[in-house]
Amino acid sequence: MEKKPWGYQPRPETLGPDWELHPQTHSVRAGLARTGFGETSEALFLNSGFTYSSAQEAFDSFAEETDHYLYSRFHNPTIAMFEKRLAAIEGAEMCVATGSGMSAMFASLACLVEQGDHVVASAAMFSSCHVVITEFLPKWGVSFELVKGNDPAVWAKALSKPTKAVFIETPSNPLLEIVDIAMVSELAHKVGATVIVDNVMASPVLQKPLTMGADVVMYSATKHIDGQGRVLAGALLGSASYIQDKLLPFVRHTGPALSAFNAWVLVKSLETMHMRVESMVSNAQAIAEFLEKQPGIKSVRYPGLKSHPNYELAMKQMNKGGGSTIGIEFKGSQDEVFAFMNKLRVIDISNNLGDSKSLITHPSSTTHRRLAPEVQADMGITPSVLRLSVGLEHSSDLIKDLQQALAK
Ligand SMILES: *Cc1c(COP(=O)(O)O)cnc(C)c1O
Repeated sequence: MEKKPWGYQPRPETLGPDWELHPQTHSVRAGLARTGFGETSEALFLNSGFTYSSAQEAFDSFAEETDHYLYSRFHNPTIAMFEKRLAAIEGAEMCVATGSGMSAMFASLACLVEQGDHVVASAAMFSSCHVVITEFLPKWGVSFELVKGNDPAVWAKALSKPTKAVFIETPSNPLLEIVDIAMVSELAHKVGATVIVDNVMASPVLQKPLTMGADVVMYSATKHIDGQGRVLAGALLGSASYIQDKLLPFVRHTGPALSAFNAWVLVKSLETMHMRVESMVSNAQAIAEFLEKQPGIKSVRYPGLKSHPNYELAMKQMNKGGGSTIGIEFKGSQDEVFAFMNKLRVIDISNNLGDSKSLITHPSSTTHRRLAPEVQADMGITPSVLRLSVGLEHSSDLIKDLQQALAK
């Protein structure tokens, strides 16, 4: 049942079958639930619980016979605004917000699998996702197989036995490998698997996995959705049946709830997300083209470059945008790469991404250090690889910064 704040005056979110709103319009309007005060901006309901006018109302509310809010671990009006807004942008039936991207990732699988189940995943993954699938799930009797590349025959072989869930990250962090979402979804559905896509690197602006056959989309809202380095958050989007029957019972009782304050920050962040991501993508494209021509650089991995091994697939899946992250492999050693990082004057050394500030990371010694050297090597992560997350500064200042740091 839809929960409404006191004095709520609904405004139509879809204006009729003849007028389907664009995602940019949803970004500033969807989910808005005004109180009787008629405030312009979304209200922050910074409270854990709610009161009832009578014992009977509490009784009826817990029986879910009223639209009354109960407790912020279950739901909260500000969190609901964020969830409804993101669901409208993504074109999903429902959304559940969580306290971090990793709590969303863990919940997406933990609510589905049981002892004896099997999970298939793409091999190039964010390191904490790799740890959940290869270290934690096996402790509870869930087996896994990791698959490289886009060869349908290789995926068909991996998906020839009963599989509960398929987890893919595309583009991957940090080396921007692309997985064919439609091809994997079709094969996965033949064995009854639920397909979960980690869509963090593409963001809701560039890629809509649900339109390509995926069942669930996962976000670290810490990245482009906040995009200003302030809050940790996550989100899962999918069908009403997945969310209501599988996910909600799991998250309501295990408690990875998002804070209402962080949800309020994110509701406001969504209003500028399209503008921010579009600017970051055009900056990243210019920088990737510049870097590719530099003699000290061995290779540049960016989905918007023709040199990317899956350039055509990336352009098809990602709405013609390469994203905001660039993988750079240097010719020099780790010491030379560190010297380059230390010379940067505008770009910060940091392990976040999707931020308004451009950030550079040395994955093998930081974000991906938890993975064994052979696993890192398998993902193409060497001590000479850097990940550049391109922000909102002027692209010529960023190019100038990279140029002066590259000059020995
Ligand atoms: C950051 C990230 C996550 C984890 O999100 P947190 O909000 O840090 O918990 C998962 N997947 C990818 C691809 C990421 O970049």
